[in-house]
Amino acid sequence: MALLGILGGMSWESSASYYRLINEGYRDAKGGLHSAPLLLHSVDFASIAALQKAGDWQAAGVQLSDAARGLERAGAGAIVLATNTMHKVADAIEQAVEIPLLHIGDAVGEALQAGGFQRVALLGTRFTMQQDFYRMRLAERYGIEVVLPEETQMEEIDRIIFSELCQGQFTSVSRAYYLACLESLHSQGAQAAILGCTEIGLLLQDVEAPLPLIDSTQVHVQSGLRWLLSRSGESDLAKT
Ligand code: GLU
Repeated sequence: MALLGILGGMSWESSASYYRLINEGYRDAKGGLHSAPLLLHSVDFASIAALQKAGDWQAAGVQLSDAARGLERAGAGAIVLATNTMHKVADAIEQAVEIPLLHIGDAVGEALQAGGFQRVALLGTRFTMQQDFYRMRLAERYGIEVVLPEETQMEEIDRIIFSELCQGQFTSVSRAYYLACLESLHSQGAQAAILGCTEIGLLLQDVEAPLPLIDSTQVHVQSGLRWLLSRSGESDLAKT
């Protein structure tokens, strides 16, 4: 049986979304009592967040590579790394295992292409917004031009992610703040916005946004599901 490994805990709030959404999608596709064959390695986010803050990406890459190797040893046939930010160390993880890492940037890039979007806003941690690793992948592979919030907005967006969303707090004040940022990015010509942090979708659930939203969690879950379903035997369908 094909097992999909989730490398999560960053934060567990969004890993819980991955777990639920992948299972819902799998049940919708296969019916009955079917649930997704998954392995979850959930790290202690405090230690990863401390390494992010210290800029020690190499050590963070070693920790996540060890976790990925564990998923591979346990039988995972592919991995989803359930955070945008830690794709900063995607290369290290890919080198540590033989199995594919289903890259969140590709899931986002493909969704943007499918929607015909070329100039898009990006909301995420300051690492995801300000550093190259995420924007370059979108630019080089998908021809996407990213529009970023202003400096002070980026600071506040990042603060809300770490001080609230990753700690399970979803407030109307922060929701309104994110919507105001989206409004100003829209007025700067963004055709859509990437929710490039896996917790933002939890804050902006069911909102009326000023522009189309591409939720990295949703599209990444879809890529995990496609992988799983492409490997699940047709004979299983008959048993539903
Ligand atoms: N889950 C977030 C992301 O998608 C932030 C947590 C982290 O820094 O990994 O980037």
